[in-house]
Amino acid sequence: TDTVFTFGGDAPHTNARQKDKTVTGGKGANLAEMASIGLPVPPGFTIATEECLKYLEHGGEFAPELRKAIEDALTHIERTVGKGFGDAADPLLVSVRSGAAVSMPGMMDTVLNLGLNDETVEGLAKTSGDERFAWDSYRRFIQMYSDVVLGLDHGLFEEALEITKEDNGFYADTEMSADDWKVLVAEYKRIVAEEHDAPFPQDPTEQLWGAIRAVFDSWDSERAKVYRRLNDIPHDMGTAVNVQAMVFGNMGDTSATGVAFTRNPSTGEKAYYGEWLVNAQGEDVVAGIRTPQYLTKAAREAAGAKPLSMEEAMPEAYAELARLFDLLERHYTDMQDIEFTVQQGKLWLLQTRNGKRTAKAALKLAVDMVGEGLIDEKTAILRVDPMALDQLLHPTLDPEAPRDVLTTGLPASPGAASGKIVLDADTAELWANRGEKVILVRVETSPEDIHGMHAATGILTARGGMTSHAAVVARGMGRPCVSGASQVAIAREGRTLTIGDRELKEGDTITIDGANGQVMAGEVATIEPELAGDFGTLMEWADKHRRMRVRTNAETETECRMARQFGAEGIGLCRTEHMFFDADRISLVRQMILAENEAGRRAALDQLLPEQRSDFVKIFEVMAGLPCTIRLLDPPLHEFLPHGDTEFEELARATGLDVEKLRRRAGELHEFNPMLGHRGCRLGITYPEIYEMQARAIFEAACEVAKASGEAPVPEIMIPLVATRRELELLKDIVDKAAQSVFETSGCTVDYLVGTMIELPRAALMAGEIAEVGEFFSFGTNDLTQTTLGVSRDDAGRFLTTYVDKGIFARDPFVSLDVDGVGQLVELAAERGRATRGDIKLGICGEHGGDPASIAFCEATGLDYVSASPYRVPIARLAAAQANL
Ligand code: ADP
Ligand code: MG
Ligand code: MG
Repeated sequence: TDTVFTFGGDAPHTNARQKDKTVTGGKGANLAEMASIGLPVPPGFTIATEECLKYLEHGGEFAPELRKAIEDALTHIERTVGKGFGDAADPLLVSVRSGAAVSMPGMMDTVLNLGLNDETVEGLAKTSGDERFAWDSYRRFIQMYSDVVLGLDHGLFEEALEITKEDNGFYADTEMSADDWKVLVAEYKRIVAEEHDAPFPQDPTEQLWGAIRAVFDSWDSERAKVYRRLNDIPHDMGTAVNVQAMVFGNMGDTSATGVAFTRNPSTGEKAYYGEWLVNAQGEDVVAGIRTPQYLTKAAREAAGAKPLSMEEAMPEAYAELARLFDLLERHYTDMQDIEFTVQQGKLWLLQTRNGKRTAKAALKLAVDMVGEGLIDEKTAILRVDPMALDQLLHPTLDPEAPRDVLTTGLPASPGAASGKIVLDADTAELWANRGEKVILVRVETSPEDIHGMHAATGILTARGGMTSHAAVVARGMGRPCVSGASQVAIAREGRTLTIGDRELKEGDTITIDGANGQVMAGEVATIEPELAGDFGTLMEWADKHRRMRVRTNAETETECRMARQFGAEGIGLCRTEHMFFDADRISLVRQMILAENEAGRRAALDQLLPEQRSDFVKIFEVMAGLPCTIRLLDPPLHEFLPHGDTEFEELARATGLDVEKLRRRAGELHEFNPMLGHRGCRLGITYPEIYEMQARAIFEAACEVAKASGEAPVPEIMIPLVATRRELELLKDIVDKAAQSVFETSGCTVDYLVGTMIELPRAALMAGEIAEVGEFFSFGTNDLTQTTLGVSRDDAGRFLTTYVDKGIFARDPFVSLDVDGVGQLVELAAERGRATRGDIKLGICGEHGGDPASIAFCEATGLDYVSASPYRVPIARLAAAQANL
């Protein structure tokens, strides 16, 4: 059939479907690919993802054709290896592995050594000549199968092993003899019989189907669903199943297993990077049961560790591994994350995939690989996730700041984080929801901890290596992580912990540095990020390949400076009301609003004018020569009203007006639905003197800066919340008159535009007419989303998550533009606006201007620019380039 594919041995390797990740999953597709280019991959077969969906749809029933296809595929493995599945004399053992199209680390479980039973274990002992190995494999199998397939608590088995070791006075598993394992296997079987109410399944075929069933079922497990939800992975992809002949890393000291990256996934440095264990099976490395060893001599020496690196202990297998690293990197033209096993000196590859990486590493890899001629600039641009840049733009620990170092673990995921210690995932989530920054501290993490890791600003574990669950997931999430800090001892009952000789408790603040593994008491000071180097190079390439301009949403001098540093090419939205809310202005603003007549308002406005002008001067000085869109006053009058007795009394004192009179006036201005009330251009229409003052302040400031610096900013004056042509016409007239008057008195002229924000559906519909007056449109997609969906952004939190969970919205429409609905209005307004005014300038200034998916939409719609908050500017530059490639 075309849903079961064989690989390895003489399996055909031309099938395109088999190399398609959506069909065979990432693991299966790459196993087939590796086998087809002649790499040492144990033979096996892959069951396609669609069989998983069929199985789940049919309530856990396998189709009869599938049974037949799997029997045939199993024969392929038997023939290739020359062993029989269930053959008591010379048994074939297999692993059963899950693998979806996108990697979901630790989400689904693998069963190793399947096919062992009371008879085949004897056969394995004979053919391998190693009784101890055979029984070690059998006990591993019973434990894994019982955990993954039968759903028994793996703790029961670990406990039994611990007791056996204690009774014998053993420290390590390696001290267990064949007979010790035999005794333990009997104990394991007893546990299964007791807990499962049935003996451990002895029939290999039954074992195989049980495992396949478990992989399929795991697609629908809670933890898999949570992971998919957090990572925007669709629920309807299903997982593939890989059944593969076992190779054994636990056949003595010439055998080993390991995980490696072809380059350093934290820093991007070009050096093999990984961990391995002698005489062990795959899971041992990842699970953090034994502390893995360094792969290379250089890494071992740098860490001052004693146990030999693979390079030193197994030079031949290592040399072969290094050769395959280079080959795979060239083949996939990307950094690879590789799982391997050495069986009695012979190297086998069990998995390869494009390695997960930190933002820093992603940048360095992209830039380095262009330098090496492995990829071109465009590919490099597409390799870096714009959102990941966020990690690089934020402050890191100040190297000069004093550090009270408690201990040092492994630098598992870079970045620094301070927060309160929490000892379990639920508490992490609870406290984070209260607005606290927390560091999740665990012995080790498991997939059940995902929600807590997500809620935490950083993760600290006592056990586990650089490829442990905590490390992999934290890197994926961009959370700083220190793992394997073995001095951390947690006492969960008392909610306390000791680090070395220091006592701490849940709620105490610590800082972790994921770049060097340090754990520090208290909060450590931070410094600003480095924007040159690889970051600068990639940004340069992005700028070369993008069409849209990138501006910033900023209203203070500091924000403007930061945004320019991040590469902003102007201001897309300067909200003038922020200047009105400042402590020293609010009283004047209130006076203006509560004035009974125009004269009263003008008196207050006259005092506000110099303040506004000086704000604009500061902004224009930073933005000289660049376009600056300034939005005239927008928020509901309602929001400026005094609250409470003291505020009224203060205002009365400041204005000399009667308190009661003020209260009455405030009562008149009270609104039931302020966001749909007296706001935006409606203010300008009713109180033209407000907009007149603002326009005057803008032009006076522009002229002042033009005269002083010789470089004028280009004000683009934006009228908010316009619904009709007439509104804009009346207000443009006020702005033009103010400009005229300023230009005359100052003897200086600057270029400017007057336009509007498109944020009401009517404005979008009437864009053709509005463009007769407006010289530019800026899509205010925050309000346009509110007004189109009839959803208030400030209140949507209560139901939006449910809406996203139920698939009503794919993503929060305030984060990522509702392209299907709101997007249509944007397209339509752009089209109608252009039809009237061919050269109308079009931009977006909602939060969406910093969201890569929305930016792709803006590119497709042909907007001239996007505008984002300062920290999002680099993200927008990269996303705009990606959208244009
Ligand atoms: P995960 O997706 O969690 O990494 P995998 O299916 O890759 O799960 O398997 C987990 C571990 O088991 C890996 O480290 C791998 O090396 C090992 N493993 C899987 N299949 C085999 C096999 N056929 N022979 C030996 N080791 C295997
Ligand atoms: Mg794996
Ligand atoms: Mg608005």
